[in-house]
Amino acid sequence: NEQILLAKRPEGMPTEANFTYEQIEVKPPQKGEVLVRSLYISVDPYMRGRMSDQKSYVEPFKVDEVISGGVVGEVVESEDDELQVGDKVFGMLGWRRLNTVPASQLRKVDGERAPLSAYLGALGLTGLTAYFGFMEIGKPKKGETVVVSGAAGAVGMIVGQIAKNQGAHVVGIAGSDEKVDYIVNELGFDAGINYKTVENIQDALFGLCPNGVDVYFDNVGGEISDAVLNLLNSFARIPLCGAISSYNRTDGDLGPRVQTKLLKSRALMQAFIVGDFAERFPEGIKQLGAWLAEGKLKYEETITEGFDQIPEAFLGLFEGNNLGKQLVKVADP
Ligand code: NDP
Repeated sequence: NEQILLAKRPEGMPTEANFTYEQIEVKPPQKGEVLVRSLYISVDPYMRGRMSDQKSYVEPFKVDEVISGGVVGEVVESEDDELQVGDKVFGMLGWRRLNTVPASQLRKVDGERAPLSAYLGALGLTGLTAYFGFMEIGKPKKGETVVVSGAAGAVGMIVGQIAKNQGAHVVGIAGSDEKVDYIVNELGFDAGINYKTVENIQDALFGLCPNGVDVYFDNVGGEISDAVLNLLNSFARIPLCGAISSYNRTDGDLGPRVQTKLLKSRALMQAFIVGDFAERFPEGIKQLGAWLAEGKLKYEETITEGFDQIPEAFLGLFEGNNLGKQLVKVADP
């Protein structure tokens, strides 16, 4: 068996040197436990927070211990009455080829209903983040203008499509022409902005949001958010989902600078974590599954192959290497 440990805490942008590999023995499952072979491993921006030792809503990873996150795998040995060998499961598991875990920490997933990878994306925490953050905090109304940052990423592209389904005018902000082309031409966003090449993001937004902004779903923070917040309409809503532009900074948050902007618009900015809605996950999965089945929701994945590619795939999130959900395929089902 093999696992990936946090070798040392990063300062600024992490590198491969923050990770080490270790060979370990496979622990045979005891009563109530199963042995799970990893198939797909999720890499996520929030993991950068866990690599630091600052207090947050989730415990930091420990140095010299295994990194963990969302994994979809296959049960290869079972000492549990309910989970059978061959069952496919989702769990928050170690970055290991094989994990020995109590069956109670796993949820069975159905590979017939959707591709297994989707349970780490559109039908998993990514989809739920988009659904609850946008619907419950964004409270979209028909005809309103919605702006999404990180719009070609995993969460952002789902938010934009839900917003279209709700009858909104939707503008996405993303980091390449290919990404902008994708969200507009494949996903039906009304317009997109490449924040890396646009001359003036503020001017571009004024042109694309003639009626102002009613909902701003913020995945990135920083200067992009500074610009969007200048367009807020009265009583706009801002689900604060993430702030990736600040995650690797060593000298504090980049902004946005909000106080007068919120005051002028009486906007509501509400941060959330998807776990806040845990009791309602079944409802969210049902709705996301229905939209997928009806063709009202599409998703995209960037799947990197190989256990030894996990750190690189993770680091690529901060370079914008992914379109949609970034996953690592570790083994064939
Ligand atoms: P993404 O698939 O969106 O991947 C990250 C993307 O962020 C990259 O593709 C890149 O796209 C963009 N990015 C990277 N650096 C910057 C930067 N400096 N400025 C602007 N954009 C940047 O990841 P997720 O969809 O998984 O997560 C999106 C956000 O949502 C993150 O901030 C994450 O922390 C947050 N999140 C929050 C959750 C919650 O419960 N609150 C749950 C899940 C995610 P580009 O090419 O456009 O730059």
